Amino acid sequence: MFSPSKAGFRRLLPLLRPHMRRLTWGGVCMLIYVGCWPLLAWLAGQLIPAIGAGELILVIKVIALALCVFLVQKLAQFGQDIMLAGPALRVSQDLRRDLFAQLQKVELRALEKLSSGDLTYRLTEDADRVGEVIYKTIQDTTPSALQLLAVFAYMVWLDWQLSLATLLLAPLVAILVSQFGARVMKAAERSQQQVSDLAGLLGEAIQGLPLVRAFAAEPWLQKRFDAEVDLHRQARYKTLRLLALQHPVVGFIEAAGILTVLAIGAARIQSGGMDGQSFSSYVAALLMLIDPISHLTTNFNEFQQGQASLSRLREIEREPREPPDLEHAQPLGRLKGDLLLSHVSYGYEPDQLVLHDLCLEVKAGQVVALVGPSGAGKSTLFSLLLRFNTAQQGRIFLDGHELSQVKAQELRHQVALVPQRTTVFSGSVAEAIRFGRQVSDQKVKEAASLANAHDFIMGLPDGYSTQLEERGTNLSGGQLQRVAIARAVLGNPAVLLLDEATSALDAEAEAAVQLGLRRAMQGRTVLVIAHRLATVQEADQIVVLDQGRICDLGSHDELMARTGRYRELCERQMIRDLQSATTIH
Ligand code: ADP
Repeated sequence: MFSPSKAGFRRLLPLLRPHMRRLTWGGVCMLIYVGCWPLLAWLAGQLIPAIGAGELILVIKVIALALCVFLVQKLAQFGQDIMLAGPALRVSQDLRRDLFAQLQKVELRALEKLSSGDLTYRLTEDADRVGEVIYKTIQDTTPSALQLLAVFAYMVWLDWQLSLATLLLAPLVAILVSQFGARVMKAAERSQQQVSDLAGLLGEAIQGLPLVRAFAAEPWLQKRFDAEVDLHRQARYKTLRLLALQHPVVGFIEAAGILTVLAIGAARIQSGGMDGQSFSSYVAALLMLIDPISHLTTNFNEFQQGQASLSRLREIEREPREPPDLEHAQPLGRLKGDLLLSHVSYGYEPDQLVLHDLCLEVKAGQVVALVGPSGAGKSTLFSLLLRFNTAQQGRIFLDGHELSQVKAQELRHQVALVPQRTTVFSGSVAEAIRFGRQVSDQKVKEAASLANAHDFIMGLPDGYSTQLEERGTNLSGGQLQRVAIARAVLGNPAVLLLDEATSALDAEAEAAVQLGLRRAMQGRTVLVIAHRLATVQEADQIVVLDQGRICDLGSHDELMARTGRYRELCERQMIRDLQSATTIH
């Protein structure tokens, strides 16, 4: 879980730099828009006494002039909004893009600890909120603040004593606003965290729905969900209650302030310090302050909420990253596939080793089966070979290149993974096999043929263009596995890491997958996490792992001849195979 923290919008300013031209034009329009306000206040000062005195010609002249000023002002406002909207939206787009790019670099083990629902919420809702704040700040807060300044400067010019009295009231409002602001921010941060938790639970719930149904655990899940929803409601209610209180309190103080100013103004006129016309302009200007103050108050709240969102986004930056490639990384070139592990030890936590002193030599083209109980460290070894993690002690060599000395991307082009459970992105079958690589249709077909997938793909409604649904639900398990094999062999990798599927396929599907695998393994070094006896028997070397140590090593016959861990595993496996064979027939 992330912990809340502070982060400033100021750090987003560099993102605005590329848009200086539009911002400058927007700024010019903004100055015209803001400059019209004191002019309008002055015109109001001319108009009100003229109306009182019944001077119709003067009234018409002033109204015509005021109309022209309004027209110019509204045109300038249009220009300002149009010019500033683009950069504001681009900044929020850049922010979201940067964050996603950073997410792609977060260390996998750190990523596994994060809830996908929570992350989704951050990258959608929180990013939206931050985008909204950026937009509002540029397009609304800045002109409102400038309007406040311009109109107030005009008021000072009209009568500084009266303005001083007005100014004395302002800190009161400011203190109240900032007090509320701080509370609103805290409440907003809590409420956003609640939504994130809710999103996390939803992500889990949607994935686990079949399981929940199978265990008739719906009431339990519903209860958990209800509790989470209730917490969210409470947190949100706290924010809304604060906002509800803020509006009338600030509004009342504003009204009281204006009435006080009116009373002081009346006294000033009576003592001869001010004339009626200036006072009319003054009151008009005073009324013109209400709008920007109310905008600034609202925006300030949104700013506080946005800051909470921004700090939640910034937390992604603090997650540990994949270590970068060395500056002078060795180029890999085309590899044969000789693999050497020399005294490799690794632990997810530095003081808790999961793999101990592994030594293994695999010649190019050999098939090595990794066997051992769950938790023995087989997947962890794969993660080291793909350089998702780096060994704490010892070294791993591929064709003499030490893995930490080469570019991770180049390495991953040469070492391909067929995972136990295939994940595909929505898109066409061809796209699923290509997985972003720039290769011809012919190559995709060749890979699919090798993986024994071509025929079934041609039988799909649109062949290679058939759209896969999310998680590939419109393909069978065996078909998905063959797509995964085609995806792995497309780049012609030298090493294939194979995590055999444990879920039982029917005999026919199993045979089709096996045929694909057999062809895909040809001419490559293969490390397979083996669950099937047949795979183990055919391997050149069998590595028996137990609690992170290689406890036996050899061919099937060699290992069977010893009465060790392997024979035990095999006997258990054979009994299981016999049992499943009896169940099938
Ligand atoms: P296998 O693939 O043989 O079942 P794993 O390589 O998955 O075994 O796990 C080996 C050990 O490492 C286990 O004790 C497991 O709990 C631990 N482990 C696996 N993944 C992580 C992780 N991301 N963070 C911390 N410990 C992990």
